[in-house]
Amino acid sequence: MKKKINLLIGFSALVLVVLSAIQYYLVKTTYEYKVEQFRSEIKEKIAKITNDYSDIDTTIFSKKDLLYKQLAENYIRDKSTRFHIKNALLQNEFKSELTRKLQEEFENEIPNLTIDFAIVLDKFVIYDATKEADTIFAEKPFIENKLYGDLASLDDAFLIRNYVGTTSGSFKKQELSSDYKLLTEDTLYVSIKNWEYIVLKRMALILIFAVFSILTLITLFVIALKALIKQKKISDIKTDFINNITHELKTPLTTLSVSTKILERKEIRENDETYNTVLGTIIRQNNRLQNLIDQVMTNSLGFEEIELHKEKVLMPDFLNSIVNDFQIAYPDILIEKMLDPKKISISLDKFHLTTAITNVLENAVKYGCTNIKVKASLQEGQFAISISDDGIGISKNKHSLLFDKFYRVEQGDLHDAKGLGLGLYYVDQIIKAHQGSIHVISDLGKGATFDLRLQITNG
Ligand code: ADP
Repeated sequence: MKKKINLLIGFSALVLVVLSAIQYYLVKTTYEYKVEQFRSEIKEKIAKITNDYSDIDTTIFSKKDLLYKQLAENYIRDKSTRFHIKNALLQNEFKSELTRKLQEEFENEIPNLTIDFAIVLDKFVIYDATKEADTIFAEKPFIENKLYGDLASLDDAFLIRNYVGTTSGSFKKQELSSDYKLLTEDTLYVSIKNWEYIVLKRMALILIFAVFSILTLITLFVIALKALIKQKKISDIKTDFINNITHELKTPLTTLSVSTKILERKEIRENDETYNTVLGTIIRQNNRLQNLIDQVMTNSLGFEEIELHKEKVLMPDFLNSIVNDFQIAYPDILIEKMLDPKKISISLDKFHLTTAITNVLENAVKYGCTNIKVKASLQEGQFAISISDDGIGISKNKHSLLFDKFYRVEQGDLHDAKGLGLGLYYVDQIIKAHQGSIHVISDLGKGATFDLRLQITNG
């Protein structure tokens, strides 16, 4: 059975993990799709603005063209300027002006988005009179070749478009007119601030549903698991109870059956003394059976079903009398009383409370104590009773089950005390019926302390 449950739990956990993985995969794919969608949306919008850079400001671009031309011509005249060209281009005097213009344009056209951009120069090729291409530079786009813009890195930026520009011109060189062509290529990169956040916001609904469904699944799984474990515990407890009660009933029943057989014999009936002894045994065993049934009937009532007959009782005198009676029944046990003498009147059911406190005291004896300490005092407006023993104690992981109906700590070879697992359940129910509380402080081999609290003003 246990193996079956473990297998079931393992399999369900595996299914849960697989489902979570699938969910994760779906969310990831959706995210990637959304990023792609966002990217093409931005591309489209920006492409519209920058369809032709000269749309933005013709004068600036013509100035840029002039700059290009001038640098190209300088180069054709004096090839030694080759290495200055790139620097002159990258540090052009329109850099900040153009950046501002483009920035303004983006802000007007795409409000609510903070956009950084860069136009990166990739190519600068001159064709002079000989029609031979002279590549001043042709590089992969990287941020150091930024012509305009305020972008610091291309890592997270979207590539929007490439712009290939051709210019032609002519100039006089030693009385000869010389024609040339200029080919430039640049790329526009754009980065939207917090674009991940924007994409996530767009898929918020999907995210919420995904998280919600997986959480629901986990919760349901935990609830089902808990119910299963509880069910298993209840069934174990029931089996234990049946074993215990059978065990408890067997002795009186066997004795009764043997005794009645003895009584069938004529010579026994004729001997008064043996007859009375056997009859005495029958009466005792009968009483024992009756007691057992009573115990099951009354002790297994829940606190809602217990009918209390409350009356005003003076503490700690009432507790003192219970302990004294107990001492008479168990003269070998050393009982130390530390009762706060201050008199307090509490409304409670004398019969049930006596049985409950006696149950705790009897358990102390049943589970191996020789000394018991009973303390009583007023604490935080409640009457606190503490009963400590030096018996075998209860390991901490059993504490939460101790007050359950029919629960008995697995004995192993610790002790073989008889019981039905109803004593502490009954104590707990009685204390609850008095709106009080009970808890245990104990560990294996270290004795046990039961703390009981009773409301002082409980009508
Ligand atoms: P029962 O005594 O019939 O088994 P109880 O409900 O009275 O049932 O107690 C439940 C279990 O708690 C017991 O089986 C026992 O193992 C443990 N227990 C109760 N009181 C003590 C105690 N004072 N010291 C050690 N173990 C205790």
